[in-house]
Amino acid sequence: MAAFALGFVGLSFLLGGQLRRRMRAESELELLARTDGLTGLHNRRTLGEILEQEWRRARRTRSMFSLLFVDIDRFKAYNDTYGHQAGDDALAAVARCIRDNIRRPADSAARYGGEEFVVVLPDTAPGGASQIAEQIRAAISELAIEHAGSEYGRVTASIGAASWSPDQQGDVSSVIRAADEALYSAKATGRNRVGQFRASGTGGAGQRQP
Ligand code: GH3
Ligand code: MG
Ligand code: MG
Repeated sequence: MAAFALGFVGLSFLLGGQLRRRMRAESELELLARTDGLTGLHNRRTLGEILEQEWRRARRTRSMFSLLFVDIDRFKAYNDTYGHQAGDDALAAVARCIRDNIRRPADSAARYGGEEFVVVLPDTAPGGASQIAEQIRAAISELAIEHAGSEYGRVTASIGAASWSPDQQGDVSSVIRAADEALYSAKATGRNRVGQFRASGTGGAGQRQP
């Protein structure tokens, strides 16, 4: 009887250990599936989930919702000049600048695709969003990664910022479009700057900071 009980306990331990290892492996796999391999930021799929969740929360709690669109300047020329591996290294360095400059637990950053990133800033007013965007822009420029094909001689990024108040019409795709529009304006007015989206009637996406 005692030997049987002992055997049973031993077997339970063995199975328990195996189960724990399997659960750990599964959660590691899940993390991998949610993360962009090159930059360690959230991938596009995870971004979709975060956007949906944070947008719903913002509407429910009637709070401001901000979003940044970050796009590396003249990155095709960078790859053409320095090679794809150097391009990948630059992408990872830019991603670190983004990650280091978002501090609140609810903030998140994702690789949207290629050399484009999205930062989600729940419960953040336009002033705060511009400030974070400017910090990210400056941090990327301060990396001082040589880029002969850029008018700035270094790797830089342009950023579009958009903020949505609880009374504004639209859904999360409107905010993404607005940030994209602001990014376009930052590109068109010289790159290496932050474009701030202004809702129609207040001048369009045009205001910028050098
Ligand atoms: P702009 O200043 O207008 O943004 O110009 P751009 O050259 O950055 O934009 P464009 O969309 O023409 O080119 C994006 C380039 O980014 C194309 C490709 O060479 C590079 N790229 C995209 N994804 C990756 C990647 O995963 N690794 C590397 N090394 N390069 C990438
Ligand atoms: Mg791009
Ligand atoms: Mg680009």
